[in-house]
Amino acid sequence: MTLPVTLAEVVEVHRITPRTARITFEARELADTVGTAPDQQLKLCFPRPGQAEPVLPERRDDPMDWYRAYLAIPEAERPVLRSFTLRRRRPGTRLVEIDFVLHGDTGPAAAWALRAAPGDRLGMVGPSALYAPPVPFAEAAAAADWVLLAGDESALPALATLVGALPDGVRALAFVEVADEAERQPLDGPAGLDVHLLHRDGAAPGTVLTGAVRAAELPTGVPFAWLAGEAGAVRALRRHLVEERGVPKPSVDFTGYWRHRLTQDDAPTAEDLADAREWSAGR
Ligand SMILES: Cc1cc2nc3c(=O)[nH]c(=O)nc-3n(C[C@H](O)[C@H](O)[C@H](O)COP(=O)(O)OP(=O)(O)OC[C@H]3O[C@@H](n4cnc5c(N)ncnc54)[C@H](O)[C@@H]3O)c2cc1C
Repeated sequence: MTLPVTLAEVVEVHRITPRTARITFEARELADTVGTAPDQQLKLCFPRPGQAEPVLPERRDDPMDWYRAYLAIPEAERPVLRSFTLRRRRPGTRLVEIDFVLHGDTGPAAAWALRAAPGDRLGMVGPSALYAPPVPFAEAAAAADWVLLAGDESALPALATLVGALPDGVRALAFVEVADEAERQPLDGPAGLDVHLLHRDGAAPGTVLTGAVRAAELPTGVPFAWLAGEAGAVRALRRHLVEERGVPKPSVDFTGYWRHRLTQDDAPTAEDLADAREWSAGR
């Protein structure tokens, strides 16, 4: 399996909330399987200032080798790399939608998305089955007594695809923290889904989310939990579930999507490294 690397051109930009841009791209190449599974992550390559389009890493036969190819690009030309989620693929086309949280002007990805216009070009590495979880989400959900989904607005694109993949009859609770009333987005799923949309309203990221899960009366039995969003909040939620609610570690799929006051280029903290070890051990 080769990891797909392609250019993608903006065809449409739509503000679905004041601070979320849904950007539709036409990918130059796209495998037929892309968009058929939930929670498909990909890496976006953002051009450096002055570049019309990013320099992309060469494809390698070894699918895990793309990062070495990326690092081989001279630093001044090397694109900025950020992780995103495929929100939707328009059936029968090479059009893909990605939702960008417009969290400010400091991060290269958010700053790019704030100004994106038709014709702008990015690089896409993936999505790929290489990043698929060991047990597909629908299978893990069906095998559990109930499902817990928790995240912030950066996880909403993934959550939207996950609730769409929930098997009928499964009881599921989703806790989603967004900035305020204006940032609410519907999360449509099957009848057994109970959605709690929470507002931060100026509180520190993740505190309202963790508080709500801690205070919740959760169903009995062993859940399958999926957690994503600000890394500290994800860590706190995971610890709460495992240490205070007795959820077995393998039943918790967790990913820190971003770090409060740190960029994705900043070095990992000791806690990030510990999370990464736990995450790999669960795969
Ligand atoms: C697997 C995966 C999937 C993801 N999917 C999506 C997605 O579909 N849509 C999406 O918008 N994000 C998604 N993210 C999160 C995204 O990669 C990060 O938010 C990333 O930091 C954005 O890069 P940046 O260049 O804008 O900011 P950076 O340069 O990384 O950070 C600059 C500053 O902005 C702050 N910051 C970064 N992200 C946020 C945020 N979301 N809210 C508030 N402050 C922030 C940082 O703390 C830092 O102070 C995903 C992450 C992962 C790992």
